[in-house]
Amino acid sequence: MAALIGSAQAQSADDLKRDSATPGDVLTYGMGYNNQRYSPLKQINTKNVGKLRPVWAYSLNNSQSQESQPIVYNGVMYVTTHNSTVALNPVSGKQIWKQDIELPQDVFKMACCGILNRGVAIYEGKLFRSTLDAHVMAMDLKTGKQLWKMKAADYQNGQAMTSAPLIANGVVITGIAGGEYGTRGFIDGWDPETGKHLWKFYTTAAPDQKGGDTWPGDTHEKGGAPTWLTGAYDPDLDLVYWGTGNGGPWNPNARKGDNLYIASVLAMRPKTGELVWHYQFSPNDPYDYDATEVGMLVDMKIGGKTRKVLTQANRNGFMYVLDRANGELLAANPYVKVNWADSIDLKTGRPVHSEIDKKARAGEDVEIFPSVVGGKNWTPMSWNPSTGLAYANTLNMSWPYQLAKPEYKKGEWYLGVNFRGVTMPKDEPHGYLSAIDPMTGKSKWQMAWPAQPSMAGTLSTGGDLVFTGAATGEFMAVDARNGKKLYEFLTSSGIIGLPVTYEIGGKQYVTVVSGSGGVWALLGDERMSQVPAGGSVWTFALD
Ligand code: CA
Ligand code: CA
Repeated sequence: MAALIGSAQAQSADDLKRDSATPGDVLTYGMGYNNQRYSPLKQINTKNVGKLRPVWAYSLNNSQSQESQPIVYNGVMYVTTHNSTVALNPVSGKQIWKQDIELPQDVFKMACCGILNRGVAIYEGKLFRSTLDAHVMAMDLKTGKQLWKMKAADYQNGQAMTSAPLIANGVVITGIAGGEYGTRGFIDGWDPETGKHLWKFYTTAAPDQKGGDTWPGDTHEKGGAPTWLTGAYDPDLDLVYWGTGNGGPWNPNARKGDNLYIASVLAMRPKTGELVWHYQFSPNDPYDYDATEVGMLVDMKIGGKTRKVLTQANRNGFMYVLDRANGELLAANPYVKVNWADSIDLKTGRPVHSEIDKKARAGEDVEIFPSVVGGKNWTPMSWNPSTGLAYANTLNMSWPYQLAKPEYKKGEWYLGVNFRGVTMPKDEPHGYLSAIDPMTGKSKWQMAWPAQPSMAGTLSTGGDLVFTGAATGEFMAVDARNGKKLYEFLTSSGIIGLPVTYEIGGKQYVTVVSGSGGVWALLGDERMSQVPAGGSVWTFALD
């Protein structure tokens, strides 16, 4: 039998487990189940990165938001847009296959924060992706031919799927978007072979469930807690970590109580969807502080002992460190300006609410830090084990906040807040690339973004580089030790995507998808209109 197992059955569970240690390929969202987005590759390093050059660019023929993380396996790169999946040669950029996704026209008025897709998962000869109209599908890796397609939710209620599935312990796991639409969040498990629905975990607790007493009446039914980003996985503990978003409506007085499990991280068994532990960052959250970007799994020395932790730069402005075996809170410190809470009580794990937070909840018109887009938005940070720092694009802005009366209408925003966008600081940068110590929240260095803040992800490498991109389109490499910019190249549109690196034939490549959009295109200032739209994949290597 073994001799018959060809590439069609590769990307086994073991390959996925080893992904972060095999720099020749990128098999998972997060460049490893630990989400560290770290590659040991160092052919491109602080000394020679100035000689980096684009080697190819590929047009995605799509002018929407480009937030796809490329997957690279066995000499093929897989990239998604909202309406297509493409397979490319990662060395030449030549298209191998392209499959279109058909979507109903009325789906486009619904998707809250950009028309987009964040990438694929691969496993045993199949490719898995989600679609904006809330379906999950499997395709043949070699041809892109559709193998199965399953409906996860009714998109007409405002639910959408935008993120890469996670394959853990042989199960395809997906989340759902739509927390602004009075929906009820959930996480699904699917059989990779057939698409059979295996389990569903609702992220707002019903009255007869554990945590059900944290919601008045039937408020859990429109209670939000969307699950719109990909989780992380610790195969040794067999725990999947998945983040949840805001409560619905935003107005917290419409749902008095902690509202489990909004704005939380859930640790679950991938086979069954059983909840093993949870930690809630923002009980009864009024501020749209989604905790959907679950963070990184890191083994850190704390008090002389190596601890297996999960560290998250939460949208609420605090950097958290949790023991990922049991959810014990080890540290929580602000990494940006915060005024809704004075601190996080390490004993109870709960925020100590500020005076300004009390005023907000009483209906006064106040200015809240961080803003609705958070101290950091959805794009992930990366980890460099040699510096022990987390590299994240952080945001320096507030928002005017005042409660209003929530009114539910199917397929429309259900906020209960007088929403007036964000407030930019007058004499300070609007955002930074920050090198954060997870235990203190303090930045060792920050590189200010000169124009718009960046919503791009970061990539860390053994060459002591941090790769990221600007909303205005510049792709760049920064010295991980001091924040000095060492390389910059203007791509054809704004960058809001996630760089990856891999090595083929002894050569290191770095790839990023360019294409403006996303939440910042909705909230940014007039300078964003100077950035041309249009998605393309850019790949760089040394001369
Ligand atoms: Ca790998
Ligand atoms: Ca939200």
